[in-house]
Amino acid sequence: NARLQQGGELRFYQPAMNRDLLARIQLDQAMRLGLAAGHFRLQYQPQVDLHDGRVIGAEALCRWTDPQRGPVSPGQFIGVAEETGFIAELGDWVLHEAVAQAARWHRDGRRMPVSVNVSALQFRDAGFVDGVARALAEAGLPPGLLELELTESLLLDDVDAHLQQLQALADLGVRLAIDDFGTGYSSLRYLKRLPIHRLKIDREFIRNLPEDASDRAITHTIVQLAQALRLEVIAEGVETIDQHRALCELGCESFQGFLVAGALTVPDFEALVDPPQRLIA
Ligand code: C2E
Ligand code: MG
Ligand code: MG
Ligand code: MG
Repeated sequence: NARLQQGGELRFYQPAMNRDLLARIQLDQAMRLGLAAGHFRLQYQPQVDLHDGRVIGAEALCRWTDPQRGPVSPGQFIGVAEETGFIAELGDWVLHEAVAQAARWHRDGRRMPVSVNVSALQFRDAGFVDGVARALAEAGLPPGLLELELTESLLLDDVDAHLQQLQALADLGVRLAIDDFGTGYSSLRYLKRLPIHRLKIDREFIRNLPEDASDRAITHTIVQLAQALRLEVIAEGVETIDQHRALCELGCESFQGFLVAGALTVPDFEALVDPPQRLIA
């Protein structure tokens, strides 16, 4: 386990590699125990109409508090879960949990579509579409109240192979969104063929609005692309009123971000939407 460096010098990576691998294995173990012990929770970030300031949906975001480690962010555990395969189990739990919550809101007479992040490994599983159909049926949720967020890289690395799977999901009546749009390599030709409903503009392009002229141009282009393809469009990571104003001017229709709220517990989310009100305008 040595690597030959350019100068012919041998460097031993073993200890560092083991430490990193061990840390990931331990995290995987902790996640598995944590899921079984009920230490995972979903929180919901409001998605807001830019023009009337009302909440139009919720993105389910996974939260984990480990007794030893404290809160661990998805940025720290989703990658490891994908690497070890645990994301299959976790993703399944997230899907059922989010669908159950959306069904509760639906039964309460609220129209509150819920968006769920789906990782590549989950999506590529041959049983994924059936799993989604079963989750909807068990909860009694109208499929149109569930949106699946997929990433560009997931969709575009092998479009032809995924098209059937996407079409099957769209045929169920589930909505499909491309998350972090603009950070991957979207072929416009493929975008036209995909049965998707919404583009989510990545936070990276929102962060430096309104000052950054390139980000303004990119955001404007994505908004126009969405309009041309008759897709909905939402901006993520909106933190300031200036960003909000810029997005209005650029023709965007909805947003999520700390300007209104981050991910909230169900009671906090409900307090925000009950009674329905303009959160910002
Ligand atoms: P994402 O799907 O793009 O989610 C947006 C992330 O930005 C969330 O981070 C959210 O809390 C954060 N965010 C929202 N508004 C703002 C804002 O105004 N400013 C800033 N700076 N951040 C904001 P989070 O919850 O840490 O999740 C990170 C990523 O982890 C997500 O990115 C998603 O890719 C992944 N993830 C989270 N939950 C799940 C899940 O249940 N399944 C899968 N497969 N991935 C998940
Ligand atoms: Mg997302
Ligand atoms: Mg995103
Ligand atoms: Mg993102």
